[in-house]
Amino acid sequence: MAERPGRAPRKPRTAQVVRTERLTPHMQRVVLGGEGLTGFAADTCTDHYVKLLFGPPGVTYPEPFDLERIRAEFPREQWPVTRTYTVRAWNPEHRELTLDFVIHGDEGLAGPWAARVQPGETVLFMGPGGAYAPDPSADWHLLAGDESALPAIARALESLPAGARAHAFVEVSGPGEEQKIDSDAEVVWLHRGDRPVGEALLDAVHALEFPQGRLHAFVHGEASFVKELRRLLRVELQIPREDLSISGYWRLGHNEDGWQAAKREWNARIEAEQESGGAAAA
Ligand SMILES: Cc1cc2nc3c(=O)[nH]c(=O)nc-3n(C[C@H](O)[C@H](O)[C@H](O)COP(=O)(O)OP(=O)(O)OC[C@H]3O[C@@H](n4cnc5c(N)ncnc54)[C@H](O)[C@@H]3O)c2cc1C
Repeated sequence: MAERPGRAPRKPRTAQVVRTERLTPHMQRVVLGGEGLTGFAADTCTDHYVKLLFGPPGVTYPEPFDLERIRAEFPREQWPVTRTYTVRAWNPEHRELTLDFVIHGDEGLAGPWAARVQPGETVLFMGPGGAYAPDPSADWHLLAGDESALPAIARALESLPAGARAHAFVEVSGPGEEQKIDSDAEVVWLHRGDRPVGEALLDAVHALEFPQGRLHAFVHGEASFVKELRRLLRVELQIPREDLSISGYWRLGHNEDGWQAAKREWNARIEAEQESGGAAAA
């Protein structure tokens, strides 16, 4: 049975790596397949995501994998941790799930895993979750993000009907990270170079002359620039909350465990401060 969008379902699936491809120097594609994808569905949202599970090195879990049992029987430090990745493509006919990973150095779990994983290896994941697809009744669309949001932005652009009005801004480290997106919409590629993540994106979106009419926006990536763009969209331009999909996908200096644990409070604080007109959260 197809799963409904929203939060990622908590029952893990097992998949095998079918193939990998280095799309650009810092973006690795990993295609998953196998029996475990039977019944998987990811076609209602363009930001569908899955949560990959990584156990600590040296820890093996009983078969079949049962998260509830692990949580009941293993000490907390041996529980698997999760890493969230957008469904760049789902092909139900071939039962193939495509994920694109930013290769951001030696730190972390998922980035280094994607850089070295080989066909045939097994991976566990939960999902999909998801919440956004471009609203066809909007007059225009704004899509803005760094490379972590590129898979979702690309999928959204590819879903837009011909003639839909969209302004898309993607910040990447340099020209070698640009990708071909199968869409008529023009993508403005911003090259970070030595600047802090998000700075080029903030300048570009601030410089945009916002068209008339109802906007539907998708803004994701590193948490600090997302916070600033939220201020522009919600506070200065008074875009209704329901017309914005906006959140930090990751936070500089924090791994996903730390960021996800703090995210709810971070979002609540920013919302309270921005909407009461006070100082921004640090
Ligand atoms: C809904 C959702 C969808 C996402 N989709 C994608 C996707 O399709 N592709 C993708 O690559 N990411 C995506 N992300 C972001 C991804 O989950 C995080 O970047 C995650 O932290 C990467 O895990 P890691 O194990 O590689 O690094 P972690 O162990 O989480 O972090 C280690 C260190 O690396 C830094 N770091 C983490 N991510 C980046 C980055 N992108 N660039 C530079 N430094 C980084 C951290 O700040 C930390 O200092 C998504 C996040 C969410 C919430």
